[in-house]
Amino acid sequence: MLNQLSELAYFGGEPKFKEKLFVGRPNIGNRDILLNRINDMLDRRWLSNNGVFVQEFEQRLADYLGVKHCIAVCNGTIALELVIRALELKGEVIIPSFTFIATAHALQWQEITPVFCDVDPKTHTLNPAKVESLITPRTSGIMGVHVWGQPCDVESLTEIADKHQLKLMFDASHAFGCSHQGKMIGNFGNAEVFSFHATKFINAFEGGAIVTNDDDLNQKLRLMKNFGFSGFDNVIYLGTNGKMSEVSAAMGLTSLESIEEFIEVNRRNYYCYRESLANIPGITLFPVNEAEKHNYQYIVLEVDEEQSKVSRDLLIKILHAENVIARRYFYPGCHRMQPYRSYFPHACLLLPETEKLTQRVLILPTGTTISEDDINKVCSIIKFCIYNFSEITMYKK
Ligand SMILES: *Cc1c(COP(=O)(O)O)cnc(C)c1O
Repeated sequence: MLNQLSELAYFGGEPKFKEKLFVGRPNIGNRDILLNRINDMLDRRWLSNNGVFVQEFEQRLADYLGVKHCIAVCNGTIALELVIRALELKGEVIIPSFTFIATAHALQWQEITPVFCDVDPKTHTLNPAKVESLITPRTSGIMGVHVWGQPCDVESLTEIADKHQLKLMFDASHAFGCSHQGKMIGNFGNAEVFSFHATKFINAFEGGAIVTNDDDLNQKLRLMKNFGFSGFDNVIYLGTNGKMSEVSAAMGLTSLESIEEFIEVNRRNYYCYRESLANIPGITLFPVNEAEKHNYQYIVLEVDEEQSKVSRDLLIKILHAENVIARRYFYPGCHRMQPYRSYFPHACLLLPETEKLTQRVLILPTGTTISEDDINKVCSIIKFCIYNFSEITMYKK
């Protein structure tokens, strides 16, 4: 497809894709079923406040995950904030910096200090030994993040939390449909949180859910997400508005019904990328553990510039010019964003692996809108760049 440099759009050629390929283009399930649900909802005139669809969505999620309680809420960030509050976290909570900013903000919003911990370069999740070294008398909890659907080292984190009497929760926004040691993500720690934002594996336009096996926590969370109301006119607790709307639950149910199809397409895409990108110097595809259930929702490359000779950022520029909107997650890392950058100006010194990952990771588009042909084209652009690195770097802008 590509023979010389001038054919790259970055160097003045025609973009190889007419329409932009995005990371996180929503998966839409069966449109007719969704529209029928919306019609039913309008006929019922029940649009929010624990409606029929929200109740059904919660039940189906709990069944799918094999967890006792599921509380649907309006988004993943509110879900995190509610759990943090319900677990009575305070002082300091240890989290990775290699995550979406909402993980940190959900704590800081409640004036709890997120203490950024480095990750294991192999799993991209919290390094348990480093977690333990960051525990102080002010520490009240640990929040792990199962990035890319890769489960944290749940056993070690549970042991550390028990030993130091800390609460343990997980931001499982990336990990719906994934398992760890044969058990679905959602069953670990005191509670786990999912996001059903439009860009996530299962979507409810905007949405989230908290899952827990703890009866008391469930009771508390149900009150807190609805202003603390216990029946008409009776408020017994401090709460907020975290309710999921019916239209969101209608989408969530429809999305959930297509889960096997979404997994199948994502898996096909993952294998297509894996085959196409095998044995390219400096390019590594983050592996999926085939022994577990997985959603294959993120195509994560690590670019090692010493070997690839083309930097991650130059590759991104070249791909963008071709209309492949690859992304740098989670650049530049929470610790380099405000307000954390001002609070902890030297945090980067304690986060060498996070710093490296934020310079190396590149996310490629996948999902139901992308064909195997598209993927082969994307990969041929990457391969062309790496195999022609000397010219590329000589003429780069
Ligand atoms: C998407 C995401 C969130 C936030 O979820 P919203 O539903 O968008 O509020 C939190 N943490 C991680 C890791 C996420 O990817």
